[in-house]
Amino acid sequence: MLQQTQTSRVITPWTKFVEAFSTPTSCADAPLSEVLRLWGGLGYHRRAKALHDAAIMIRDEFDGAVPNAVADLRRLPGVGEYTANAVASFAFGECVAVVDTNVGRVLARAVANRTLSVRDARVVANELLPRSNAAAFNQALLDLGAQFCTSTPRCDPCPMARVCRWHVEGGPDPAPRSAGVSRPQSKFQGSDRQARGRVLAALRERPHSVRHLLACVDDVDVRRGTTLIAGLIADGLVEQRGQLVRLSGDVQPARPARGT
Ligand code: SF4
Repeated sequence: MLQQTQTSRVITPWTKFVEAFSTPTSCADAPLSEVLRLWGGLGYHRRAKALHDAAIMIRDEFDGAVPNAVADLRRLPGVGEYTANAVASFAFGECVAVVDTNVGRVLARAVANRTLSVRDARVVANELLPRSNAAAFNQALLDLGAQFCTSTPRCDPCPMARVCRWHVEGGPDPAPRSAGVSRPQSKFQGSDRQARGRVLAALRERPHSVRHLLACVDDVDVRRGTTLIAGLIADGLVEQRGQLVRLSGDVQPARPARGT
């Protein structure tokens, strides 16, 4: 849920989600439609499907227990290197580096005093990683990047100031746009992502006709709207039977209102 989404927006849906699905198996046993409903307004709905697919894999291949090895975590749908390493480190105490944009920025400034590629940042982080309590080290770097070493750094109160290479040696900012570990988000207003969100918001209420869904996104032309709905079907998020569209696995009876 936290991928590309602010923590403050995630807290409420996350709380509802873990109340409804307290284990991976309970999530895996639910239809995708229930997961999408609890996903609420978080956007990037493919993440919800990936989470559901991951829960199914955990139930079927790992006896319902989240695996602790990075290699196994990387096999789960939607789990990339950062997420796998974060789960392995913070949940299981594995000795692996957790490198996101913030950490890449701290390493570029405090350790290297040069711009780091994503790969470079991971190499530097792994070289520094202590053998014991690696999770605390990872958390400290994440906190430094979030609290002090932001894009406009607050060096005076930073606990790294005395040893930070950039602060001590000077020179141009080695991380003017961070270490490039994360891709910048594209504009949301008027985007396909926004229109897909509106279609899914309508379907969270109940199934609708294609015509009604196109009316929900009346600021895009019919061709683009039809393509959007086809994309949601191709992504496995919704299903179409005849003219009626519903969330995948939705068991709600179709009660289309007049004109839908
Ligand atoms: S001293 Fe400044 S540049 Fe160095 S790590 Fe701290 S905030 Fe970042």
